[in-house]
Amino acid sequence: MHDFDNASQSPERQATETRRDVARLIIILSVFAAGALVFFALRAFHVTEDPVWIGAVLLGFGALLLLNLTIYLIGHHLPVLRWSFVTLIAALLVFIAVNGLEQGAGILWLYVFPPMVFYVTSARAGAVLCLGGLLAMAFLLSPLGPALTPVHEYSTAFTIVFLFSMGFVMVFSYVLDRSRRRHAERLQQMADMFEYAAKHDALTGLYNRREGTHRLSAEHARFDRTGQPFSVILLDIDHFKRINDTLGHDTGDRVIRTVADRLVTGCRQMDVIARWGGEEFLLILPEASLEQARQTAERIRRLISEHPVYADKRPLEVSCSFGVAEIKQGEAIETLLQRVDERLYEAKTSGRNRISSGRLSNTASMVTGHG
Ligand code: GH3
Ligand code: MG
Ligand code: MG
Repeated sequence: MHDFDNASQSPERQATETRRDVARLIIILSVFAAGALVFFALRAFHVTEDPVWIGAVLLGFGALLLLNLTIYLIGHHLPVLRWSFVTLIAALLVFIAVNGLEQGAGILWLYVFPPMVFYVTSARAGAVLCLGGLLAMAFLLSPLGPALTPVHEYSTAFTIVFLFSMGFVMVFSYVLDRSRRRHAERLQQMADMFEYAAKHDALTGLYNRREGTHRLSAEHARFDRTGQPFSVILLDIDHFKRINDTLGHDTGDRVIRTVADRLVTGCRQMDVIARWGGEEFLLILPEASLEQARQTAERIRRLISEHPVYADKRPLEVSCSFGVAEIKQGEAIETLLQRVDERLYEAKTSGRNRISSGRLSNTASMVTGHG
C-alpha cells in the first residue's frame, strides 16, 4: 500500500467501463435489430414480392439475437455475447445481400457493419473482419459468386460502386476507431497523472497529507467496524532549520527525500506513509499495537540516525523525534492526532532523536532513544 500502486487500478476500471459500454451497445442494437427484423419480415409476408421463407428466416435471426441477449443477461459472459452478435449480424447481412432483399436495396444495411464491428470488437479484429467481409462480398458479387450460391443480380456499376464505397467506409471506420481508442487512452493517462498528483507528494513520492487523512479515516472506519486497533507514528526531523540555513534548501530537500526512503525501508508493505508537513511524516500502521508501533519507530529511528545522509559527499547526521499512539475505543481521529502530536512534542522537549509512546502512569513518561 506504500505507493505507486494506484495508477495500475485505473486501466482496469477503464477496461470495465469499456466492456460495460460495449455490452450496453450490443443490447440496444440487438433489440433494435430484432424490431427491424420483425418489420421487414412482415413486409416480406404481406408487402414485397420476397418469398415467405425470407420473412421466416428474418424472424429466425431476430429470435437468435434475442436468445443471445437472454444468455448474456443470465450468464454475463461478454465474449460470448460479443462474438455471437458479430457472427449473427455478419450472417444476416450476407443473407440480405445474397438474396437481394427489398428489391436489392437491403444490401445498404452492410454499411452498418464496419463502424459496428470496430466498436464491438478490437481494432485488429475489426480490420480482419472488414477485410474478410469485403473480399467475401467481392467474390459473391463477382461473376464467380453465382457458382457458389444463387446470388441476387446487382448491376455491374452498382457492384463496383458498392465495393469501392464499402472499402472507403471500412478504412474510415478503422481510422476513426483508432483515433477514438488513442484519445481514450490519452485521457486515461492524464486522469491517472492527475489522480497520482492529487494523492502524492512531489518531493518524496509518498502520500500527501490529503491522502494520508483519507487513509486514516478509512482505517478508523475499519476499526469501528471490526474492533481491530491500529497505531500511528508522527515524526519530525530534528533541527531541520539548521540544515536548511547552513547547507541550503537543496540539501534540505535531499535530507527529506532520504528520510522518506528510510521510512519506506522501515515500514511494512501494508503501512501508510504520508508527508504530513514540511519535514513531518505520519505513519499509519494497521493491526499494530502500541508496542509493535514503538518497535517500528525504533527501527526507523535507528535507520535514520545511525546512517549518515550524504550531501555533497559530506556525511550529515540526521535524526528524528517520534510520537507513537494506538487508537482507543470510541476515540475520534482528531483526538488521536492530538495525542500523537503531544507525544512528538514530548520527544522533542526531552532531548530529540527519541520516541515517546505515552504515559505509562500519571508520573512516568515512556520516552526512549538516544540524546
Ligand atoms: P525541531 O527539531 O524542533 O523540529 O526543529 P526544526 O528546525 O526542524 O524546526 P521546524 O520544524 O520549525 O522547521 C521546519 C523547517 O522546515 C521550516 C521550513 O523552512 C523547512 N521546510 C519545510 N518544508 C520544506 C521543504 O520542502 N524543503 C526544505 N528544504 N525545507 C522545508
Ligand atoms: Mg523539525
Ligand atoms: Mg516541523
